[in-house]
Amino acid sequence: MRWWGWGEDGHAVRLPPVAESMLRDELGTDPATRRPPVGMEQVALPDSRLPEPARERLAAAVGVEQLRDGREERLAHAVGRSYPDLVRIRSGDASSAPDAVVLPASAEQVAAVLATCAEQRVAVIPFGGGTSVVGGVEPVRDGLGAAISLDLRRLDTTVEVDRTSLTARLDAGLFGPQAERRLGAEGATLGHFPQSFEYSTVGGWVATRSAGQASTGYGRIDELVEGVRCITPAGEVGTRALPASAAGPDLRELIVGSEGVLGVICEATVRVRRAPAARRYEGWSFRSFAEGCEAFRVMEQADASADMTRLFDEHETRLSMAIASTGSRSERLGRRYRRLRGHEGGCIAIIGFEGDEEDVERRRRRTSALLRAGGGVALGRRPGRAWLRSRYAGPYLRDELLDRGVMAETLETAATWTNLRSLYEAAGGALRAALGERGTPPLVMCHVSHLYPSGASLYFTFLARQEDDALAQWRASKTAASEAIVAGGGTISHHHGVGRDHRPWMRAELGELGIELIRAAKERLDPTGIMNPGKLLP
Ligand SMILES: Cc1cc2nc3c(=O)[nH]c(=O)nc-3n(C[C@H](O)[C@H](O)[C@H](O)COP(=O)(O)OP(=O)(O)OC[C@H]3O[C@@H](n4cnc5c(N)ncnc54)[C@H](O)[C@@H]3O)c2cc1C
Repeated sequence: MRWWGWGEDGHAVRLPPVAESMLRDELGTDPATRRPPVGMEQVALPDSRLPEPARERLAAAVGVEQLRDGREERLAHAVGRSYPDLVRIRSGDASSAPDAVVLPASAEQVAAVLATCAEQRVAVIPFGGGTSVVGGVEPVRDGLGAAISLDLRRLDTTVEVDRTSLTARLDAGLFGPQAERRLGAEGATLGHFPQSFEYSTVGGWVATRSAGQASTGYGRIDELVEGVRCITPAGEVGTRALPASAAGPDLRELIVGSEGVLGVICEATVRVRRAPAARRYEGWSFRSFAEGCEAFRVMEQADASADMTRLFDEHETRLSMAIASTGSRSERLGRRYRRLRGHEGGCIAIIGFEGDEEDVERRRRRTSALLRAGGGVALGRRPGRAWLRSRYAGPYLRDELLDRGVMAETLETAATWTNLRSLYEAAGGALRAALGERGTPPLVMCHVSHLYPSGASLYFTFLARQEDDALAQWRASKTAASEAIVAGGGTISHHHGVGRDHRPWMRAELGELGIELIRAAKERLDPTGIMNPGKLLP
């Protein structure tokens, strides 16, 4: 991945002219503004401070060529992929870069690296794909003399499918496409497709309790993990891969979501499904977000949800349609159709079914009847296909927006159905007020994308003209929204995790004693405090 953004060089997404004029009219951006990243040679990188004895022992543990302290490697591990990460790295600030990058190839090598780092007091930051959007992979030394980034991409050998039990043992360093390709060869799928799928790893998913785009049907990663193997500075903590157990509190729950602060997840045994023979994704339209939310609630509580469910509010519908705009005849007809049905200015939903042909058709009929009864109008397969084609395009578009001096940020939460509407208003309102007061009124959009019988997630995307002090602008909006989320009964994160950015709200999430309990586990497993300091725990 390129060091200043998403994807590889040469892969870009262009903003269509209609979206460009929308930004100009609504955010007041200047179309001539360009804020490209600085050249790599202009990035300020501190000298490596890894002590010589640590360097020698780490090289002995993993092989000298797998201990890297070149400019490019350190730069690529300096930050994750959040908006403030990109603002800093694009401006040439890599002050957080690790002193070295270490690439173990086995759990035994991971154990040897942790032993050396504990002895030499070197911080260890587990690094999967580095797609954290909460500051999870940025090295924080917290009083330690040096920090290494422990890049797990070489833990990518094992994909062992048990076709009878429908489980798979996966190495933690497998990237999404690698894992799915190899599962696909065995006729299986994990069904876990976060938007970061192309560049995130199995270990990263488990460490952050990630949710894929089709989590409504397939389940979040924490529901899919049956067993984990975790190497900590104090030794190995494993949980056996079992379908269920009543043998006391579930240790697996301590490791899943631990974000590298307890140890390194080296492999996970996950539930898989038979690869679907059929996929049917389609569009629906509702008169309003409130109407769509209610229809989704009824569908979910009737146990009739599609596998992928996404409802865009009025603002996101409008922008999505501008971005997807082709000006084609069928698009004009689609717009006319919605107008005729009284849905102009309303909301679009995309739902997707995966499975056997017969099963997909049977479920689709039942779901359609419920959505129709809830006021929905079917828009056919074209919008579904378009969504599938562009499901990973968002982050490329973000680079393009940053180039044009646009702040483009996302945040997410979840709440009960009872609280969802008020939380939607409160978080959106807080973003509008915080940025409006600064003279950079934003475009705030939201979608519902992961459904549960008792509630759903809300995912906000907001755009604003970037201020000169882009980080202060970001901090003000993030703080306002987070305060509103916690006060409004939402979780500080539905799937991005905690990292560094959400730490201030963890007390509200777990309570003081809850925090102490996790801290006690950390002190037992990581007595010298080398594991990902400054993350997760306030
Ligand atoms: C554009 C974009 C879209 C995204 N979309 C989604 C989405 O749809 N759903 C979603 O859930 N998230 C999403 N994310 C967030 C991110 O991709 C997830 O948190 C993902 O699970 C991180 O995986 P990773 O391999 O990149 O982990 P990293 O970013 O490398 O690490 C994340 C955290 O886990 C720790 N860690 C990583 N690997 C291990 C390991 N093996 N053992 C112990 N600790 C480890 C790290 O130290 C860090 O604290 C998105 C991010 C971006 C930039």
